[in-house]
Amino acid sequence: MVIKIGMGQDMHRLVSGRRFLLGGIEIPAERGEEGHSDGDVLAHAVIDALLGAAALGDIGGLFPPSEPVWKDADSMSLLRSAFGMVKQAGWRLVNLDCVVGCESPRLLPFREDIRKSLAAALEVPAEAVFVKGKTAEGLGPVGKGRAVEALAVCLLERGVSPVMRKEVKHETEI
Ligand code: MG
Repeated sequence: MVIKIGMGQDMHRLVSGRRFLLGGIEIPAERGEEGHSDGDVLAHAVIDALLGAAALGDIGGLFPPSEPVWKDADSMSLLRSAFGMVKQAGWRLVNLDCVVGCESPRLLPFREDIRKSLAAALEVPAEAVFVKGKTAEGLGPVGKGRAVEALAVCLLERGVSPVMRKEVKHETEI
């Protein structure tokens, strides 16, 4: 069995007249993410973590913002598409852990919905996905409320895990 770790990061400006999306969940807020796509900063960081772990490129190469076809793109569709490539290469997601830097609103009330949304897209139970919200104590673009940042770390595995190997052997013995 081979395991690979991947990390992703993204930051978007917060502007009025845009939706505030995190992992496909719309958060009620005065401002939302500016972006060529729908701006879902968390989905973008997760895409880069997955692609990085599988060494399959990055979001900018796969879905270039210079291409009109990705204008207002649904980032969760991009995530499913990127994960499809990762699966095609034989990888399974073990777990995903994320941090969202955001001064307001508080993300805790939306955490379970975000976890479920990401888990559904990545075909794992919600227990395999975690998301934490952090403020930046008034510091930098996140702290001043001008931007939202997301960080994601994932673990992928390929091949038969020791646990699965044991189960297979057991079944064969029966
Ligand atoms: Mg982005």
